[in-house]
Amino acid sequence: MKVVVIIPAAGLGTRMASAPGVKGKKPTASKQFADLGGTPILIHTLRKFAASPEVAEIHVALRANEISDFRSRLQEEAKDILQKKFNIVEGGEHRQHSVANALAAIAAGPDDIVLVHDAVRPFVTGQIIHEVVLAAQKYGAAIAGLPAVDTVKQVERTAEGALITATVPRERVVMAQTPQGFRYDVLKKAFDEAAADGFIGTDEASLVERSGHDVAVVMGSPRNIKITTPADLELAEFYLKSAS
Ligand code: C5P
Repeated sequence: MKVVVIIPAAGLGTRMASAPGVKGKKPTASKQFADLGGTPILIHTLRKFAASPEVAEIHVALRANEISDFRSRLQEEAKDILQKKFNIVEGGEHRQHSVANALAAIAAGPDDIVLVHDAVRPFVTGQIIHEVVLAAQKYGAAIAGLPAVDTVKQVERTAEGALITATVPRERVVMAQTPQGFRYDVLKKAFDEAAADGFIGTDEASLVERSGHDVAVVMGSPRNIKITTPADLELAEFYLKSAS
């Protein structure tokens, strides 16, 4: 059994950028390349998986125009990551296509474990990686998640805003994080079915759920944030300093 990691890192990160095309402003780099303590977020994230003794291979999906610069950058300042078997594939239009491209590049047996992790969650820990791998081996599919602390409302979007249609019992809600881990055969089947049906999900678990397979949840961490907005980046700088 081997553990293979897929990092989709081909997003545009528009929520991080200042409005594109505004006169006099250059479009901001994709959020996975944003600077965190002097190093791109993506390199922080890759280091977490490179440091995990369980991980055999890392496959990263990047936008085509970012591949060669990133490869040079790894050679120059992150040779530690290249100690693992390391592969770059071209990303797709949606996150799901980026993961599918990486999945197509993987040679794996049915029982091998594939972990998928957002490029922009650099505060994942070795412990979370380990727990997701163990649960994925046991159940075939598992994700890191956090219990909801806020009261959760279901809404209907209107032209003026949103109207609440229901209150969802908080104890039944988990906020999905990554890594999300799957036996290769489970993930491959779910991706093939989603492609055949034209279904696009925002995470891998949603594809596996609709494929009829149970997905277990292990405890994530409140620090395992997805850096999406400039405010998240400020919080990330704080976490980075407090960890050193
Ligand atoms: O945009 P979103 O929040 O869904 O991004 C989650 C992750 O998926 C990020 O790491 C982003 O780089 C990646 N992604 C991708 N290909 C896309 C869109 C997003 O690899 N087409």
